[in-house]
Amino acid sequence: MSGSLTIVGLGPGAVELTTPAAQQALQSATDLVGYETYVARVPVIEGQRRHASDNRVEVERARHALALAADGRRVAVVSSGDPGVFAMAAAVFEAVETGDAAWRALDIRVEPGITAMLAAAAHAGAPIGGDFCAISLSDNLKSWETIGRRLAAAASADFVIALYNPASKARPHQLARAFELLRRHKSAATVVVFVRAAGTPDATLRITTLADASSVPADMRTLVIIGSSTTRLIERGNAAPFVYTPRAEGRRP
Ligand code: SAH
Repeated sequence: MSGSLTIVGLGPGAVELTTPAAQQALQSATDLVGYETYVARVPVIEGQRRHASDNRVEVERARHALALAADGRRVAVVSSGDPGVFAMAAAVFEAVETGDAAWRALDIRVEPGITAMLAAAAHAGAPIGGDFCAISLSDNLKSWETIGRRLAAAASADFVIALYNPASKARPHQLARAFELLRRHKSAATVVVFVRAAGTPDATLRITTLADASSVPADMRTLVIIGSSTTRLIERGNAAPFVYTPRAEGRRP
């Protein structure tokens, strides 16, 4: 089989934040596959076929992409941010694991991108300068019980916690539940950062505390970072404060 499949990370939004290697993979593809919002971010190339879908069943989309590659096409599957972070790369490997044995012989690669957490952290300063973890609040593929257990474990281990998928129209209340749970393990004064549309010209930053975090709106384009016990602010007059977590534990640098 001469076809190939590259799962490409587009980065968080601004075209400058798509790596040159990712752009190269997009340009050399004969076929683009992905959620329509992400496919729309890729400049049109004459002759390139676009398979944009509003289908949220990622494994079906992955199977379609693998079938195209098995037909000899050079396929790019697009994801926002990094394709390995709560995105299409794992869906493709799920499809490979359970699908046609011949798919294992295909040239399949992952082209990394800047994930939302990194773009959001950069807006705020250096909030993930110490140990951190990332948790998706979406319960489409796991139970709320699992999410709660992981939040509690991360909080009691004093990780900085990045929350992906904090809220959607179908799940408006989970973020408040997550904050409620975290307040049982962490100080009410813990720094919480909301970054919407990180890495785009529309980016907005809100800095608050765990006590007040429930009153800040969040949607599907928001990344929430909950600080560790050492995450702090550097105030600076009229400009937004820098939020940072020192590299050393427990003491002022
Ligand atoms: N693969 C993506 C994440 C997919 S999960 C990545 O690596 O970034 C989708 C979630 O990512 C959203 O609900 C939101 O929490 C976050 N997200 C994606 N793009 C974002 C952006 N530009 N700014 C803030 N959060 C973003």
